[in-house]
Formats: sequence, C-alpha cells, structure tokens
Amino acid sequence: MVNHIKENLARVQEEIRNAAVACGRRGEEVQLIAVTKTRSIEEMAEAVRQGVRFMGENRVQELLEKRPRWPEGLDVEWRLIGHLQRNKARKALGAVDTVDSVDSPQLASALSRIAGEEGRTLSVLLEVNTSGEASKMGVPPDEARSLLDFIIENCPALRPEGFMTIGPLSDDERLVRGAFARLRSIAEAAREGAGLPLPELSMGMSGDFPWAIGEGSTMVRIGSALFGPRL
Ligand SMILES: *Cc1c(COP(=O)(O)O)cnc(C)c1O
Repeated sequence: MVNHIKENLARVQEEIRNAAVACGRRGEEVQLIAVTKTRSIEEMAEAVRQGVRFMGENRVQELLEKRPRWPEGLDVEWRLIGHLQRNKARKALGAVDTVDSVDSPQLASALSRIAGEEGRTLSVLLEVNTSGEASKMGVPPDEARSLLDFIIENCPALRPEGFMTIGPLSDDERLVRGAFARLRSIAEAAREGAGLPLPELSMGMSGDFPWAIGEGSTMVRIGSALFGPRL
C-alpha cells in the first residue's frame, strides 16, 4: 500500500520545482505539506521516511486518534489545516505545531489564551474564503485585515505567519488563479499595513498547485497526488 508514495513524492516535487522555475521562483520557496486525512499511519510514516517534513490534518478527531500511534523518533511538523471548533482548541493544541485555519476572532482568542496558559507561542495562518463558495471556511476577503488586527492587538501568544485559502472547485484557470491572486494581494496589503513579514501563503492542492505557485504560494497542501485517490 505504500510503494507508490516514493514515486508520487518525487513526481510532485518535480512538478513543484517546474512550476516555481516557470515563474522565476525557486523550488525551495515552496514547502510541501502532505495532507493525510483518511491515510493510515503506515502511509504517513512512509511519506516522512521519503522526505516529507510537514503534515497537514484537517480533522481534529482523526488527528487525535493518530498522534498517540505515531512512531517514536520520526520527526515531522504537524499543521492543522481544517476547521477547528473552539471547544476542541485545547485538545488540538496538544497535537499540533501550527493552526493554519484560524477563521474567527473567537477562535484566535481561545488559542491565544490556551497557548499562553501553557507557556508557549503558536504560529498561525489566517484562513480566507477567496472563492465565495458557501461550503468553504475562512473569513471573507474584506474581513481578513480586521482579523489580523484583532490578533495583533488581543492575542499575545499567537504568531501570525500569513494566510491560507482553498481555491474554487473548478477547472477554469482564470477563476482559480483569480482566487489565489486575491489571497496574495490581501497578504501584500496586510504586510504593509501591519508591518509584519507574514511570509506564508498556503494555497494549492493536488488539482491546482501549479497555478497557486504561479500566484505566489509558499505552501502547497497535497493529498491525493501523493497518496493516491481517497478511499
Ligand atoms: C483534503 C485537503 C487538501 C488536499 O486535497 P487533495 O486534493 O487531495 O490534494 C488540501 N487542503 C485542505 C484544507 C484539505 O482539506
């Protein structure tokens, strides 16, 4: 079940590099986050042995079930990339290094309070709904700045590193790239306004990551292209 992962990883890394070079960037500017929903510990561990350094889980429950079973000594950074309910914030924080899906002042406050109590700081990304699709989480584009300002003023234990979005479910390149370009301009305006580096743009999945890289992505979140179709 894990034999294909090595080849898939090599191919995805090659495609990341090609997409970066095609727009005058370097492959190293784009991190690969392996998205692991529905994947077994065995598949995930194989990906890490083959060189994956960042793991993205989007379901808190699944993450909490997997973490205690993770092989000792196999190092990887855990990123939460899916919606987090406030009442699960404490448990989630025990299992992740970053939360890439901060989508409300209430969640930001809860995370900051809990991280503060535990004497740690937490890197976060702010999730923006750039497509306007009702099924997608994230703040609307015109509220991204106020969420960032809220965090800067009220959440001393949070370290905002940038923004995250899920592209529209569409094959229309112009439409999809338009959403990614929107996230990039939100980040550019926020950097200038807030005076923070905010270097990260988490955008692009298996079906659209070359376009996302063309629009400035620094983190692509790849599931099926790495592990195969989800069961
Ligand atoms: C599932 C998921 C991905 C990866 O999707 P693939 O199409 O399998 O690459 C990326 N980001 C989020 C938030 C996801 O839930």
